[in-house]
Amino acid sequence: MPARTTNPHALAGVIARLNAEDYDRWAAQVRSTGGCRQPIHLRGKVDHYDRATGRLLHRYTTRTEPDGILRLPCKTRRASRCSACAEVYRADTYHLIRAGLIGGKGVPETVTAHPILFVTLTAPTFGAVHTRRDKHGKALPCHARRNGRTCPHGRVLSCMTKHSPEDPHLGEPLCPDCYDYTGSVLFNALAPLLWKRFADSLRRRLAKLGGLTLKELREHLTVSFAKVAEYQRRGVVHFHAVIRLDGASGPATSPPAWATTDVLSQAVQHSAHAVSAETPAIDNQPARLLKWGTQVDTRPITLEGDLTEQAVAGYIAKYATKAAECVGTLDRRINPLDNLDAYNLRDHPKRLITECLRLGSIDDLAELRLANWAHMLGFRGHFSTRSRRYSTTLGELRAAREHHARDHEITTGRLPLFEEDTVLVVSEWTYAGKGYSLADQLVAAAISGTPVPDLPGGA
Ligand SMILES: [Zn+2]
Ligand SMILES: [Zn+2]
Ligand SMILES: [Zn+2]
Repeated sequence: MPARTTNPHALAGVIARLNAEDYDRWAAQVRSTGGCRQPIHLRGKVDHYDRATGRLLHRYTTRTEPDGILRLPCKTRRASRCSACAEVYRADTYHLIRAGLIGGKGVPETVTAHPILFVTLTAPTFGAVHTRRDKHGKALPCHARRNGRTCPHGRVLSCMTKHSPEDPHLGEPLCPDCYDYTGSVLFNALAPLLWKRFADSLRRRLAKLGGLTLKELREHLTVSFAKVAEYQRRGVVHFHAVIRLDGASGPATSPPAWATTDVLSQAVQHSAHAVSAETPAIDNQPARLLKWGTQVDTRPITLEGDLTEQAVAGYIAKYATKAAECVGTLDRRINPLDNLDAYNLRDHPKRLITECLRLGSIDDLAELRLANWAHMLGFRGHFSTRSRRYSTTLGELRAAREHHARDHEITTGRLPLFEEDTVLVVSEWTYAGKGYSLADQLVAAAISGTPVPDLPGGA
């Protein structure tokens, strides 16, 4: 067993579970959740009726299942919540990103001839933060300033440390009192709008470069993309995106000859610098325009060399399973009445959360719902999105897997094989909870060979 415990209650629970008459069925349920750490419990039944006669052909009910429930995987994308389900999400994301780069899953291989770029849009600066610098692989001091200038708060604005990659100070401001926490939080809140404006501007720019109107462009060219949000250590999001040019009907059609990788790159640079989002005037401060950072990285994706299609797909899939937890914030909603001191947060994430709660109480900013998204440091967008024609969808990948699982159930005799159009299926489900007891967590971990999270009383 991969975990031990000295908790007598848990031990008694483990022994009871292992000796239960329905243990085998329980273990089969656990196995079918694929090692999910917090399975959903459902109570209910599925009836199969003959459409012609109304006769009940077959009934499945959870009443005969162990504990009277069916356990299903939680399907979260968040690795911090359930590593097993996040791994399924990561692998699916990897395959659908890769299909959009080299074909497969319904995308023809000719897509490799289309202009494709890997683009990174970063946030602007909100004040100097501790960082790792190097030149030709040699570590350099964080902020070397010879004159040793001090800020209005009396802090010296230099740092001679060569920070290690694990240094908790990385991403933290040299002077927290000078740092623009308002700007950082508002940028996160407006980043989805900035992205939308960027995507709209990109289409307009491409139309202009091709000598077409926007309406005419649609008859010749589609811009397909897949993007993912990543938190930098300073607590602001930036976006990585695969941007591809297709013909009018998507990846199976070629874009016009004038739409080259160079033209796409020019258009990306133009649009990334052109767009902005305005914040209302608050705190007696005038309205401000937030824009992307000045560094806009556009790199071609190649089958060999620096940036391969596997590297890009792996990178996007990895960040699709993460959120802000790597910045040291909380992994759940924060109540404005919570005592933040009780959470043992570092000063920087705590100030970002506090600023979200403060700005969240200002009427003019109400629509940004900053208090609800304080644990995300203001960002409330999707972590991973794709345009309709990028490649296949997560839903299609899942449906294919479930179809396969169903065939398996039929061939192993668990589901009766009926002619689908002569049978009426009536199902009734209610949510009956989530997760495992401490004892079940230990047995489930042993069955699926997954590590057990910290257990109280564990030795
Ligand atoms: Zn799960
Ligand atoms: Zn430093
Ligand atoms: Zn200062």
